[in-house]
Amino acid sequence: MNLARQIEQYLPQPLLELVKNISGQAAKQGQRVYLVGGIVRDLLLGYPNFDLDLVVEGDAVKLAQQVAKTGQAKLLAHHRFGTAKLRYENFSLDLATARKETYARPGALPAVTPGTLNDDLIRRDFSINAMAISLAAKDYGNLIDPHHGKTDLEHRLIRILHPGSFSDDATRILRGVCYEQRFGFEFEAETARLLKRDIPMLDTISGDRIRHELEHIFEEKRPELVIKRLGELGVLRRINPALKGDDWIAEAFDKARRLKKPTQLPSLYFCLLVYSLSEKEIEQFLARLNIPAKLSRAMRDTLRLKTRLPLLDKPSLKPSEIYHLLQEYEPVAIQANALATESPTARRHLQLFLTKLRYVRTSLDGEELKRLGIPPGPEMGKVLQALHKAKLDGEVRTRANEKKLALSLWRKL
Ligand code: ATP
Ligand code: MG
Repeated sequence: MNLARQIEQYLPQPLLELVKNISGQAAKQGQRVYLVGGIVRDLLLGYPNFDLDLVVEGDAVKLAQQVAKTGQAKLLAHHRFGTAKLRYENFSLDLATARKETYARPGALPAVTPGTLNDDLIRRDFSINAMAISLAAKDYGNLIDPHHGKTDLEHRLIRILHPGSFSDDATRILRGVCYEQRFGFEFEAETARLLKRDIPMLDTISGDRIRHELEHIFEEKRPELVIKRLGELGVLRRINPALKGDDWIAEAFDKARRLKKPTQLPSLYFCLLVYSLSEKEIEQFLARLNIPAKLSRAMRDTLRLKTRLPLLDKPSLKPSEIYHLLQEYEPVAIQANALATESPTARRHLQLFLTKLRYVRTSLDGEELKRLGIPPGPEMGKVLQALHKAKLDGEVRTRANEKKLALSLWRKL
């Protein structure tokens, strides 16, 4: 099958030019180069995807350097283990030397040696990700599909390439469910059986790698579908016995994504994922996934704040009181609680803090207080605090009012 025409239609012009340049340079160097992986899958599906992965039989770094010399693209990075990244306009493209992988033991990182395209395809996770398209002049556009990925795409099936695949690398369990849900595919029967059998092999995977796959899932359009399915299959339980992929999580994720400013979305998903866990369970989760310090703080804050929510459930709270209750927490933990709480009053207060109160600043600062004759020291600190409180509660609005208040506070002190 030849996909030359599809490539022309599918790729944006700049990327197409770059691909052709690479193909031309490869021919000059006597190297063979192929499009591989997700881009081939998505091209066949007609899904937009401009993350281009190329495999080179030979030396990807040498090829990338040569392309960079033509001045069309910029070489962003290259590595000793034969990978390089090129940038052209706002597109980037990854080149990798074809590699052969062997697993010393389940879950370990594989030993890598240079190989052929076929070696490079057989090390891949699923048949739909194990196709390539030749970019050589003589067979430009030819589909190379030794594992029948195209048939599986047509039958909407996720299939591993050999029975040891999930036990070699159990992150493929998470990856597989991700594709299953993204495309609405099914696992081929034997793959489904092996997936269930090999769930315990997740224990062989490092925390960093599991976390990385969860982050990958959280970049999906609808991560809640993936999380729910991982719950059903018993995958979440294997990562932490208290993790659930229930309707509550699904709804919370959905709400999170509909927020007007869904900043920090991956962190927010993490906080919601652990919302129903106890302190001890959260600590186990943080340790298992080797969660970095800032996110750990956000997740711990989520739980601490959850236990204090009753304090925020009073309609009569003043803004300064809300500020005082919430200032110590990570904003993403506050957001998680705003989404999770059943209490409309608490939610309103949490949101008020997030959208307004946390940004409130006095117009006067220490320097200006000095000019008013208030000397630096603990008392100035008190004046500033009182000004801030008055500003939060709307008792002062203008600079002039702040000055007046500052002086009267200072006199009283
Ligand atoms: P996505 O659209 O999710 O990015 P992708 O196919 O580009 O899909 P990546 O995670 O970017 O997926 O990985 C690129 C390619 O590397 C995949 O298509 C797959 O062939 C291969 N790959 C990635 N992770 C693994 C793994 N754990 N085991 C085997 N092959 C993998
Ligand atoms: Mg990708």
